Amino acid sequence: MPSTNSPRKRVLSGMRSTGKLHLGNFVGALDNWVRMQDQYECFFFVADWHALTTDYSDTSRIKQNSLDVAIDWLAAGLDPARCTMFIQSHVPQHAELHLLFSMITPLGWLERVPTYKEQRQNIAEKDLGTYGFLGYPLLQAADILIYKGDFVPVGEDQVAHIELTREVARRFNQFYSLTREQRGQFPAPLGPGDPLYGHYSILPEPQPLLTPTPKLPGTDGRKMSKSYGNTILLSDPEPVVRQKLKTMVTDPARVRRTDPGNPDVCPVGDLHKIFSDKATVAKVNEGCRSAGIGCIECKGWAADGLVKILSPIQEHRKKYEENPRLAWDILEAGSAKARDVANKTMNEVREAMHMSLDYESPK
Ligand code: SF4
Repeated sequence: MPSTNSPRKRVLSGMRSTGKLHLGNFVGALDNWVRMQDQYECFFFVADWHALTTDYSDTSRIKQNSLDVAIDWLAAGLDPARCTMFIQSHVPQHAELHLLFSMITPLGWLERVPTYKEQRQNIAEKDLGTYGFLGYPLLQAADILIYKGDFVPVGEDQVAHIELTREVARRFNQFYSLTREQRGQFPAPLGPGDPLYGHYSILPEPQPLLTPTPKLPGTDGRKMSKSYGNTILLSDPEPVVRQKLKTMVTDPARVRRTDPGNPDVCPVGDLHKIFSDKATVAKVNEGCRSAGIGCIECKGWAADGLVKILSPIQEHRKKYEENPRLAWDILEAGSAKARDVANKTMNEVREAMHMSLDYESPK
């Protein structure tokens, strides 16, 4: 396990407990997380409470889903020796900080979050008029600030969430702070390398770490998403991948084999750009535009590129598939470490708010 006093900047990120991960999760986050492990001190969590904000009515699979997510993380190369992986609900301090934030956050800040209205409209089949759904960006703020994260890897569309987290931190720091003497009681985060060294505020403002999020279409051409049923899973065996590719939509201009097409408007073309080597991309470009290749042939090449990426992941996965307990133990050890770090922050928070367990003499 990395040291909590690591001089590396700290990164926080989570993924909802949605079960087995698909290529969209890989390209949009996981692949990047694997690369970040050595550069940053990383805390990655399975966000099971966040999953409840939209899927609260049936929790029968939530634990299995969390485990499936973690197995895919490990298969893709997250390494418990180089990062901390944990389950959000196993660190109840997140919920405590969320509750305290909910006391100080104006309602308008949450109602203004761009994804709030958008998601309520898009996920019309579920009743999202709940307190939990409105408050989920605040839970995210607690997830990040409780670890005093320096960076949060996000795509452009999530920068507004990080801005809210920063606003919440500022508001909290305005209301509550520790004297230098009080901070002295909490030796762990203090030191010349500590971002708060010599300061009085408790929660540092994190920065967004903008990460590229290439367009990854699902088999129907829409964004790859579990709710659309158009995914290719990291754990799909080769014949399944090839079959899914066969049914994938293409450039509608190519009605007949002799019609030229355009890989820039074809979902299979998008897959090539991400997963195929340069020579194949060039071959697709030329062959599609001149009708020199057929879509079946082109999809076969795209499947080759995918299988090349997925094979080592699936090979690595076997160990955890055969013994899922291994993955669970890693999550448990990570959760214990996360609780320690979170509790140090909460001790400061409770102290600053005059809510610690210690006796205070009457004033
Ligand atoms: S040849 Fe390939 S890129 Fe072109 S339309 Fe067919 S599947 Fe798409």
